[in-house]
Amino acid sequence: MREKEKFYITTAIDYVNAPPHAGHALEKVQADVIARYHRALGEEVFFLTGTDEDSLKNVQAAKKEGISVKKLVDRNARKFYELKKALNLTFNDFIRTTENRHLKGAQKLWKACQKDIYKKTYRGLYCVGCEEFYKKSELVSGLCPEHKTRPELIEEENYFFKLSKYQDKIKKIIENDEVKIIPCTRKNEIISFINSGLKDICISRLAERGQGWGIPVPGDPNQILWTWYDALSNYINAIGYPDNPKKFKKWWPADLHIVGKGIIRFHAIYWIAMLISAKLALPKTIFVHGYLTVASQKMSKSLGNVIDPFELVKKYGTDPVRYFLLREIPPAEDGDFTYEKFEGRYNADLAKGLGNLVARVITMAKNSKLQIPNYKQITNSKLQTTINKTQKKYKKALEDFKFNEALIVVWDLISFCDKYIEKERPWEEGEKQKEAIGNLLLAVNEIAKLLEPFLPETSEKIFGQLRTKKSKSLFPRL
Ligand SMILES: [Zn+2]
Repeated sequence: MREKEKFYITTAIDYVNAPPHAGHALEKVQADVIARYHRALGEEVFFLTGTDEDSLKNVQAAKKEGISVKKLVDRNARKFYELKKALNLTFNDFIRTTENRHLKGAQKLWKACQKDIYKKTYRGLYCVGCEEFYKKSELVSGLCPEHKTRPELIEEENYFFKLSKYQDKIKKIIENDEVKIIPCTRKNEIISFINSGLKDICISRLAERGQGWGIPVPGDPNQILWTWYDALSNYINAIGYPDNPKKFKKWWPADLHIVGKGIIRFHAIYWIAMLISAKLALPKTIFVHGYLTVASQKMSKSLGNVIDPFELVKKYGTDPVRYFLLREIPPAEDGDFTYEKFEGRYNADLAKGLGNLVARVITMAKNSKLQIPNYKQITNSKLQTTINKTQKKYKKALEDFKFNEALIVVWDLISFCDKYIEKERPWEEGEKQKEAIGNLLLAVNEIAKLLEPFLPETSEKIFGQLRTKKSKSLFPRL
């Protein structure tokens, strides 16, 4: 027997200075669809997510609350983990950067890059929010472009990584899609950043600035690893880099990293350079998603517009939340959340579109006085052609991470079935009508299959109703 193909997918690991918001949910749900899709293709999937806990942000957030850093990160990391149940995620592992396996791996990677690491005194503008030094030219009116805060001027003796050395190599790798960046607008953004010149990066901080929080530099406990140098290694640490070579060989390189647009530089440049330096294989693809806005504004604590994914799920259910994020938000761009948009999608697409079709077909099958035999094949060629086309477009859309387009083609099939019902009038009695019901049952079965990666619970319910011919509303109208 041929060995199963493997597929290793990761999400970004999130900062735990605050609990998750709906933007985090977006990325996790996107990754979950891809993981489920590849499992359905018969591949062996490893889906990793986790939390980035060594950041100085946590030290500050804990201080503000008057609790220990450990207490703060434990509390918020638990909430990130709980997204698994709330959003029905199928990740196989959840790595926390405060775990020992991560510490060991991060230090091992540091040692593997030793030939490219040197020490020097550095003065620079540092944004604590980003955990990154900025060039003056990158600031917007003197403020961090991400956080709109003024970076601090910092002078320290730190370790540096020879990023400049890898400039040409990384450029070629990105240009040739050796590491493929999707969408190509992000690929171009990375290439132009490389063209502007890569400077060596500072990869450690004075330990005292972190008040003891963070991973010590091997052989120099006065220094801790820069949080990005530390965090990126999670992708290899979770699959055995520190101490399980067999597992590591099986899963690395990653087939797909999913990250937000704010952190591609770390993944498409720094991470690649670190891996080359350590003589490790490179990830195959990086998919970059946009941000979730709320009524066209950035979600932020200070604006008080943070959408809590747990509240949403509590109010509407898991699958409606998954559906909205996947259908309404353009996968590679920013997308907007409002309750009106959410309820609009819910009523039109779920209650009316999908819910209505399933209820009609199941009810007709149950009410038909004729015994509906278990058809194996659709006898209406137009319906069959439409299904074939749907499958093809759906596959293409998913391969390009166009979640919304994959759902649009499924809903086109739903509309086609609605029209087919109007035309065939299967609620009337007769052989032709019986055949139409048989065809519709097969079409609904196909729809449930296509929806499995997106709406797993709903898909299962539809399969159940097809078996029992008992209709129960999938999405009660709001
Ligand atoms: Zn910043």
